[in-house]
Amino acid sequence: MFVVMNVGATEAEVLGVKSQILGEGMTPFDHLGPAGVVIAVVGELGSRKSELAARLATLPGVDRVTPISRPFKLVSREFHPEDSVIQVLDAVIGDGSLTMMAGPCSVESRDQLFETADAVAAAGATILRGGAFKPRTSPYAFQGLGVEALRYLAEARERTGLPVITEVMEPSQVDIVAEYADILQIGTRNMQNYSLLRDVGRVARPVMLKRGYGATVEEWLMAAEYIVSSGNPNVILCERGIRTFETYTRNTMDLAAVPLLHHLTHLPVIVDPSHATGKRWLVKPLAVGGIAVGADGVMVEVHPDPDQALSDAEQQLTPDQFRDLMATLVPVHELARGLHGDPLVAAAAMGIGGGGLSKH
Ligand code: PEP
Ligand code: MN
Repeated sequence: MFVVMNVGATEAEVLGVKSQILGEGMTPFDHLGPAGVVIAVVGELGSRKSELAARLATLPGVDRVTPISRPFKLVSREFHPEDSVIQVLDAVIGDGSLTMMAGPCSVESRDQLFETADAVAAAGATILRGGAFKPRTSPYAFQGLGVEALRYLAEARERTGLPVITEVMEPSQVDIVAEYADILQIGTRNMQNYSLLRDVGRVARPVMLKRGYGATVEEWLMAAEYIVSSGNPNVILCERGIRTFETYTRNTMDLAAVPLLHHLTHLPVIVDPSHATGKRWLVKPLAVGGIAVGADGVMVEVHPDPDQALSDAEQQLTPDQFRDLMATLVPVHELARGLHGDPLVAAAAMGIGGGGLSKH
């Protein structure tokens, strides 16, 4: 449930409500939205729910107490009607601009990373990607350069000015990855690794949570809820394809998930057509599709010589192909912004009004 405070509620009244909630062993999360302060009551309420709701409703400064109908709370649009906007260095994600995350699947060497970083930065990428710790299906495949790659990524950030994103695979790596990277990526295989989700919830770095390849949208949002309820509100969702019976593509990119997520949650949504399709020539059409249905950005793999890549050789783009992709996506993104309409009208049509600023 969440407690909606009166528009003119004082700080002392907000604190009074929060201390009541804490006194019940629950955690209060407050959000200052366009219609004032809303406080979510998070925790295992059990049978005390209606009694506590009635008590909170009588406190000074409280307008009303409302149940949250979805199992996910803090990531829901009900609690937080306007879009979350995440800023990392000069990159802004979720504000209606086009986020382009690009770089190699794996950091293979300093030269390979720098060559790719220079090329994608010049072509208009806003964030540099590169795997340091690689989750490989085979234990005999290249596992990544680890901390050495993290150092190269930090140097590439200095060189290009682009923030860097890289995957963290286990709780013991969280601190070191957070020391070097600007955004932590949780890979598909770890979407339901709850101890890892809690740990990245405690660091001051945005997290990009990739969809588990066998996860429903609700399971994915519950995973995001783990991170946000652990204290980190800066979560980005990434649709990277799910496993179906189809074998011509590596995965099946769930485009419907993009507008669905914008309906259910305030978190930004990125699409990854590289891992979704597994095929270089399918990356561009699916990137276009993702932006057309309203994604906030795209993550793609780029390598100076894809055929020689140590991982995911078949799906990485050449720098030229990335330039071509950018040239195609910029106007598609402009068109999509128009298509997804006026933010306030869209929010009202979804019944999540309250003067929200949602663009979807
Ligand atoms: C990646 O982006 O490097 C990666 C391994 O992706 P996924 O977790 O989606 O397979
Ligand atoms: Mn890859």
